[in-house]
Amino acid sequence: MSRFHVITLDLDNTLWDLDPILWQAEDTIYELLQQRCPEVTQRFDSTSLRNERIKFWQANAELKHQISLMRQRSLAHVIEGCGYSAEQAANISAEAFELFLTLRHQITLYDHALPLLTQLSKRYTLGALSNGNADLSRLGLNDFFQFHFSAEQLNASKPDPKIFHAAIEHSGVRAEQILHIGDHPKEDIAGAQATGMATIWFNNRGKSWPEDLARADAEAQCLSDIPAIIDQLNQSK
Ligand SMILES: [Mg+2]
Repeated sequence: MSRFHVITLDLDNTLWDLDPILWQAEDTIYELLQQRCPEVTQRFDSTSLRNERIKFWQANAELKHQISLMRQRSLAHVIEGCGYSAEQAANISAEAFELFLTLRHQITLYDHALPLLTQLSKRYTLGALSNGNADLSRLGLNDFFQFHFSAEQLNASKPDPKIFHAAIEHSGVRAEQILHIGDHPKEDIAGAQATGMATIWFNNRGKSWPEDLARADAEAQCLSDIPAIIDQLNQSK
C-alpha cells in the first residue's frame, strides 16, 4: 500500500523558473507605457515604478491575495496620478495586464518537469497549489492535474492552511496521505507541514535551509530525483 494518495505541487520556481520571465515582462510593459502614457515613464524609471506598486500593495492589504487585481489597480493608480483620466488609466492598465499575462505564461519548463508529471500522474492524484496567477490550461498542463487551488481563488496565500485544507477536503484523504512539493521553505514546506502533510523541498538553487524552520521530509536538487525520493518516503512511515 502506498502511503501517499495525492501529490500537490507548487508551480512557479518549482516546475519552471519564473524570475527571469518577470524581469523581462516588466521591461516589456515599461516599453508599452512609454508609448501609451509617456508622462508615467518620464516620472518613473522601472525601479521606481516597481516601488510604487509595492507601496500600493502595502496600502491595500485587503487585496493582498488578489495579485492580478492588485497589479492592474496599482498601475492604474500611478497612471492616474500622472494626469491621465480614470478611463485612460483603466484601459492602459488592462492592456498592460493582458500583456503581462501573455508574457508570464511564456515559461520554459524545467528539463525534467514533463517526465515527472507524466510519471506521477499515472500513479497519484496530482494537484497544484499556487500563490501566483499561472493558468495550467494556458500552459497545456491541465491534463496532469485533477485540481488547482490558487491564492486568488481562496483569497489566502500559502502558508495559510486554507489552501492546504482545500486540497485535503477536495481529495477526501487524510493530510498525511498527501505529499507537497515546493521551492519555498515557508510558503510550501512550513505551510504543508502545519496541516500534517509530508513535504519535499525542491532546492535547485543550492540554498541553505532557514534555521528557524523545521526541515522538510526530504530535499530534491533536481526534479528527476523526486520519484526515487517518493518511493523512499512511501516505505517509511
Ligand atoms: Mg514557488
